[in-house]
Amino acid sequence: MRKEIKIGSIKIGGNNPVVIQSMTNTNTENISATLKQINELTNAGCEIVRVSVPTINAAKSLKSIVRNVRVPIVADIHFDYKIAIESIKNGANKIRINPGNIGGEEKVVEVIKAAKDYGVPIRVGANSGSIPKDLHNLPKVEALCEAALREVRLLEKHGFENIVVSVKSSDVYETIEAYERIFKLIQYPLHVGVTEAGTYDWAVVKSSIVLGYLLMKGIGDTIRVSVAGDPIEEVIIAKRILISLGLKEGIQVIACPTCSRSEFDVEFVAKEIEKGINMERNLKIAVLGCVVNGIGEGKDADIGVAGIKDGAVIFYHGKIFKQVKIENIIGEIKKLLLNLEDES
Ligand code: SF4
Repeated sequence: MRKEIKIGSIKIGGNNPVVIQSMTNTNTENISATLKQINELTNAGCEIVRVSVPTINAAKSLKSIVRNVRVPIVADIHFDYKIAIESIKNGANKIRINPGNIGGEEKVVEVIKAAKDYGVPIRVGANSGSIPKDLHNLPKVEALCEAALREVRLLEKHGFENIVVSVKSSDVYETIEAYERIFKLIQYPLHVGVTEAGTYDWAVVKSSIVLGYLLMKGIGDTIRVSVAGDPIEEVIIAKRILISLGLKEGIQVIACPTCSRSEFDVEFVAKEIEKGINMERNLKIAVLGCVVNGIGEGKDADIGVAGIKDGAVIFYHGKIFKQVKIENIIGEIKKLLLNLEDES
């Protein structure tokens, strides 16, 4: 079992559930913009938010940021140990550093001291884009893991074990192999993700492959889906990965791909239903364009809809509930969702 680590109010590792993490893309010195985005991320289901802290002023901004959010905040720091210490003093709940670029061992020791004093964990690890030069002769996966282990050993040498580790690559095979390898070598919780996964479609594909594979094997304590775009998308994809794997409660909307038999606009109905859902419990809603697969899926779901000539049949708790006109499908399903909410 992984060592349990506390990040603000959240525990990771041990027997704790997998936690969704994302990162802001605002200027951290712009406190109101950063707070707005953190709150949007939190409302979307993000449980830990990382912010980049490139300056001392950004570190100082953390004081008001941490006080005004509902989730733990991770400060992401490179190159300057003073920014790391300032971030810890200003309330960061965890810091992400690369000890190799923070300015020498004596400076890492200063950061460790502050982290110990404030009970703040440190995430270390390697990214495929920043492997130290002296490891370039090793195969990529070995180099990634060795780079991470080197950082872990440095922290341990100074009596620090409040550690989270990551070994990210932009390649799916390398990421999977690196996490499988490091999982066997250390007991610290692992933050898992594909780095620089790309724009939305690529990020969905690469993250689903990597996170799906690793999480099914029990590897991963916090996850981040990295998207070149709106971070809210990262949270939605991460949530859907966890729900699909049964690692988080939530509603799955099953929808057919449609064909010429479809009696209504399946995509529109499915998206309208998804928009209105904010329940954290395991439910299936099936939206099928016709009766070919609609009856079976409708009966298997908690709520189902299958198209028929000039209308649709609604299923509820596995039984035919009523026939409705196409324009009433969404309203009927939303009413049934409210019923289910009251039942819970
Ligand atoms: S459920 Fe009906 S409409 Fe949907 S893809 Fe299958 S046959 Fe086509």
